[in-house]
Amino acid sequence: MNSVATPGKTLALIREKGLVPRKSRGQNFLVDSNIVRKIAVAAGLGPDDIVIEIGPGLGALTQELLKQAGMVIAVEIDGDLISALEENLKDKDNLRLVAGDALKINFDELVARYKGEEGGRLPTYKLVANLPYYITTPLLMHLLTGKFNITESVLMVQAEVGYRMLALPGSKDYGALSVAVQYYTEPAIIFKVPRTVFYPRPEVDSLVVKLTRRTDPPVQVEDEEFFFRVVRAAFNQRRKTLVNALGSLGLDRPQLLNAVMAAGIDPRRRGETLSIEDFAVLSKILQQQIERR
Ligand code: SAM
Repeated sequence: MNSVATPGKTLALIREKGLVPRKSRGQNFLVDSNIVRKIAVAAGLGPDDIVIEIGPGLGALTQELLKQAGMVIAVEIDGDLISALEENLKDKDNLRLVAGDALKINFDELVARYKGEEGGRLPTYKLVANLPYYITTPLLMHLLTGKFNITESVLMVQAEVGYRMLALPGSKDYGALSVAVQYYTEPAIIFKVPRTVFYPRPEVDSLVVKLTRRTDPPVQVEDEEFFFRVVRAAFNQRRKTLVNALGSLGLDRPQLLNAVMAAGIDPRRRGETLSIEDFAVLSKILQQQIERR
């Protein structure tokens, strides 16, 4: 089939199938084959690669991934799009289409189902997606904390989220998402994407980012769940000083002051100035305080 990633072909498909792009599902389809190619190239695919795609839509990116990878497992929530894809891509024997909500999917289990385990071990795989923007953050958190066997993710996200993923301490974009992304992966911006390459056009520009999984986290954290509780508490009330913001952890003020100072942090600082290393030291001391109570 000709490339779906053109305005003419996308509009024709939408009309032919009687579809209405749903804003509530983040349906902004790529209509520029050059951008599609650049996304696939960023993933560095070869015939041995297994790729998960979240939200194949009308198949614009899927077509390119199918050309370059060994197997593409595409997860789509919208039943109407699944039917359209089944029809349009029926001759592609390296495609596995899955109807479902990516937020609830264990991607390792999907790969094991379709690819099996090699020598008792689940193969590694890549993830490529033009993400539905209404759930970008929860999806990213699911991908990161799910500790799936994903080595690299190439993701189209709204520009503002892309900048937050790479933000450093002290900047306005730095937050819990930056800490999570940088703790689990090495993020890089690959290229900017104007809103004009989508149909319908979104209200924001986008970025393609690449997240390369770290083999070891940049800091030692004993209890990741507690570490992220501290991070979230520190950023939840950004305007408060660190000691005030950490009030939600259930320790009293003198205990919090002690812990923050024992971590070598000035208690008047705000959470948004703390590095990942600061959060690691602080959460360890806070946890010891809680255990001693
Ligand atoms: N990949 C296509 C493209 O680039 O043209 C479509 C991308 S569009 C931005 C996002 C796609 O994600 C839509 O097809 C939408 O139906 C799908 N989607 C939305 N929420 C989803 C979810 N929770 N799980 C899986 N797919 C979802």
